[in-house]
Amino acid sequence: MLYYIDVILPVPLEKLFTYSITEAEASFLQVGMRVAVPFGKTKMYTALVHSIHTNKPLVYEAKDIHQILDETPIVNPEQLSFWQWISNYYMCTLGDVMRAALPSAFLLESETIISKNNEKEIANEDLKDDEFLVYEALQYQSSLKIQDLISILDKKNVLPVIKRLLEKEAIHLQEEIYEKYKPKYVRYVKLHSDYTSETSLQNVLEALNRAPKQKQVIMTLFMLSAKSNKPIKVAELTEASQASSAIIKTLVDKGILEEYHIQTDRVNYFGEENEASKQLNEHQIKAFEEVKTSFKTHAVTLLHGVTSSGKTEIYVKLIEEALAKGEQVLYLLPEIALTTQLVSRLQNYFGEQVAVFHSKYSIHERVEVYTNLLNNSAKAQIILGARSSIFLPFKNLGLILVDEEHEQSFKQFDPAPRYHARDAAVVLANIFKAKTLLGSATPSLESYYNARQNKYGFVALKTRFNNVLMPEIELVDIKDKHKRKKMKGHFSDRMLEEMAETLKAGQQIILFQNRRGFSPIVECNTCGNSPQCPNCDVSLTYHQYRNQLRCHYCGYHSAMLLKCMACGSPDIDSKGFGTEQIEVEVKELFPNHKVARMDLDTTRGKYGYEKIITSFEQQEVDILVGTQMLTKGLDFRNVRLVGIMNADNMLNFPDFRAHERSFQLMLQVSGRAGRTEERGKVLIQTYNPFHKILQQVSTNDYLGMYKEQMDERFNFKYPPVYRQIKITLKHKDYNRVNMAADWYAKSLRQVFAAFVLGPEFPPVSRIRNQFHKNILIKIPPKQSLGKTKEAIHKIDTSFNAVKDFRSVRVILNVDNY
Ligand code: ADP
Ligand code: ZN
Ligand code: ZN
Repeated sequence: MLYYIDVILPVPLEKLFTYSITEAEASFLQVGMRVAVPFGKTKMYTALVHSIHTNKPLVYEAKDIHQILDETPIVNPEQLSFWQWISNYYMCTLGDVMRAALPSAFLLESETIISKNNEKEIANEDLKDDEFLVYEALQYQSSLKIQDLISILDKKNVLPVIKRLLEKEAIHLQEEIYEKYKPKYVRYVKLHSDYTSETSLQNVLEALNRAPKQKQVIMTLFMLSAKSNKPIKVAELTEASQASSAIIKTLVDKGILEEYHIQTDRVNYFGEENEASKQLNEHQIKAFEEVKTSFKTHAVTLLHGVTSSGKTEIYVKLIEEALAKGEQVLYLLPEIALTTQLVSRLQNYFGEQVAVFHSKYSIHERVEVYTNLLNNSAKAQIILGARSSIFLPFKNLGLILVDEEHEQSFKQFDPAPRYHARDAAVVLANIFKAKTLLGSATPSLESYYNARQNKYGFVALKTRFNNVLMPEIELVDIKDKHKRKKMKGHFSDRMLEEMAETLKAGQQIILFQNRRGFSPIVECNTCGNSPQCPNCDVSLTYHQYRNQLRCHYCGYHSAMLLKCMACGSPDIDSKGFGTEQIEVEVKELFPNHKVARMDLDTTRGKYGYEKIITSFEQQEVDILVGTQMLTKGLDFRNVRLVGIMNADNMLNFPDFRAHERSFQLMLQVSGRAGRTEERGKVLIQTYNPFHKILQQVSTNDYLGMYKEQMDERFNFKYPPVYRQIKITLKHKDYNRVNMAADWYAKSLRQVFAAFVLGPEFPPVSRIRNQFHKNILIKIPPKQSLGKTKEAIHKIDTSFNAVKDFRSVRVILNVDNY
C-alpha cells in the first residue's frame, strides 16, 4: 500500500499539495505535524500535515518528504477548522492563513536568514556536532542563509538543526527586531499606612524628638504632599529635606516611611493594598449579572459602557469565573492598547496565568506563549493579545473578550488573510462553544446593529465609576475666533484659558491632532506648486525636526526645499498642521511646562510608546500632544483637559465610515479626561460647530449618531446593511491597470449587475509607483455569500488566464475597512 499526505505549504497555492510517505512514516505522522518538503526545483519548505491517506494524486508524481519535524502535532483540529473558515470567508489560501497563524520560527524555509543570538552564551559541549558547525560559522559571519548551511553541513536537510539551535536560543531568525528595555524604576516614598491617622502621626513626631534630622524629613514630606497631589520621589525628598539617603533608609527600616516603585506597585500606590479583584459597584454588578444572563441566550453579547465605567473590572470578574471552570480566556485588544498599564493590572489579579502575545515581542517570546498553550500550561490560561492571538492553539477556550471592539485596527489590511479579528473571534468562540463579550464605549455600527437585530445580546453601563460626570464638551468656533483675532497660532483664546487654568491646578492636558508631522502641504506662494512624492500620488509632509519632506505612504524623504522646484522662488509656505507644529507652539506658549508628543514618529521601537505613557502617568509631563494613538483605552488619573485641535479634517475624510469614526475618536479621546474625581473638560475646535456629528459628540448622543448614520447606510447600501468586497488591482503601468480593471468590472457586472461599483481610482491612486484601481461589490442581505464568492473566484481565475493581466496584482478584501 502506498501512503500519502496532503500538506499546507506557506505559499499562496490554491490547493493542498500531496507528498508520498513510507508506511512507517504513515504510522508515526499525525495531522498538525510539520514536515520538511522539497518544492519546485530547489526550494524547501516547512509544511503542515493536513490529512494522511492512500489516494495517489492524479496529475503529478508525488515527491517524498525530506523529514518529519515534530513528534507531536503543533496545530490542533480546532485550529485547522478555524483556518479553513478564515480561508473561505476572507478568500485567501490556507497557506496565507498558516503564515499568519504560526510564529515565523515554526516556518523555516530556504529564504530564511539566521544570525547568532549574542545575548546568550552557549557552551560548546551543549551543542551537537552539526549544531556546533553552524554556531561556529556564525562567529565569523554575521548571518547565514539556508543555502550556506547546506554547504557547511554538506546535507540537504538542515531544518532540524536550525530548529534545535532555535530551541537552545543560540540563534535568531532575521526580520526580527530586538531591543532591550528595562522598565524605568522610579523610587517613591510615602508615610507608612500605620501612621496616616492624625494621632499616630503625632506620636511619631514626638518619638522622633531626639532625632531632629529624621523629624525634619517627615515634616518635609508633609510640606511636599500638601503642595501637590503628585507622588513624591525619594530623590525629591532627599533634596528638599537636605537629608542623606541613610536617614531616609533608617525611617524606612523603622517602618515609618514606605518605599515603593511605580512600575511594580502601581495599584498599591492608589491605596488598594490587596491583590484580590475589586468589589464591583452596584452598576457594575448589575451589568455583570446581565452579561451572564445574556450569555444564556446569546453566545455573543455587546457591552456598551461609557468611558471609565469600569468595564475592565467586569471583564476581570468574568475571567475569574471562567478560570474557576478550568476554561481558557482570550482577551483581545488593539495592538496599541496592549500597554503595560493593562498587563500589570491583570497580572496583579491573576499573576503568572496571564500571557501576553504581541507582534513586537521577539520570536522566542512568541514561541514560548505558543508552546505554553499547546501544552495547556498553567502559565497560559489568560491570553492578552492583539489580533493575531486568535490563531493560538487553544485547548479549552471558554471566553473571548474583545475590548475596544469598534477599533478598525482589528482588521488586517495587508497581507492576506485580511481578517477582522473581532468577527473571526466570534467564529473561533463558536468552534469551542465559548462565549464572546464585545466591549466598547462607542460600539461599531456593525455590532450595535447586530445587537438591535437581537443577533447579539446587549448590556449597557451608563455611569462612570465613582459617579464622575462625563466630561463637559464645548465646541469652539474657530472661524469666528479667526475673524475676531482671538487665535494664537492654532489655539483659540478659550483653549488657552482652559489650559492655563488646568496647569495652575497642577493637572494635565491632552491635545489631539489627527495628523503627524509639522504641516501636510508645502506650497510655493509665487506659482502655487507643491512638492509631491515621486513614488506616490500625494503631497509631501514637512517635518521640522529633521527639516525634511516626507511621504507618509512610502517613506520617501528629501531635505526641505530652499526654493520652489518649479519657479525657483524662495517664498515657500506651509499649510495645515500636524502634531509636531502643535508641540512647537505649546512649548512657546507654555515655556515653563513639560510637553511631550506621541505619534508614529516618536514611538518607534518596542517600548517607544510605553516610555511616553509612563512619563505622562508619572506626571513628568504636563501636556501630551498626539494622534489617535492617545485614544486607545488609556487610564490616566490626573488629566482634566482634552483639546481637539481641529475636528474638521477627520469629518471630511472621503470614506463612508468617516463620520462614525470621527464620533468614536472624539468620544474616546474625550474619555481620557476627568477619570477620577473631578469632572473633566473637553474643547473641540472646529470651523463647523453645527455639524451633526459634533453636536452628537458634545451631548454624548450615541443613539442619535447610530440612527442617523444607519439611515445613510440603508440609503446608500453600505455595511452593516449590505456587505461589501473590495477588489483592488495594482500595476505600475497606468494603462494596464485601467484595462485590467475594466475587464474585471465588466465580468463582475454580468453576474452582479448594478451591485458593482467602479472601477475607480482611490484618493491616493499611486503608491510606491503602483497605480491602484478599486472595484466594489455590494452584497444585499439576502444574497448568498458563498455563491457570491464562488462567482468572484471564477472570474478571478479567468482573469489570471489572460496573458496581459498576469502581472496585475489583484487583492480581494472581504468586509473592507
Ligand atoms: P473602562 O474600561 O470602562 O474605561 P476601567 O475599567 O479602566 O474603565 O475603570 C476606570 C477606573 O476606575 C480605573 O482606574 C479602575 O481601576 C477604576 N475602577 C473601576 N471599577 C472599580 C471598582 N469596582 N473598584 C475600584 N476601582 C474601580
Ligand atoms: Zn513656485
Ligand atoms: Zn510616497
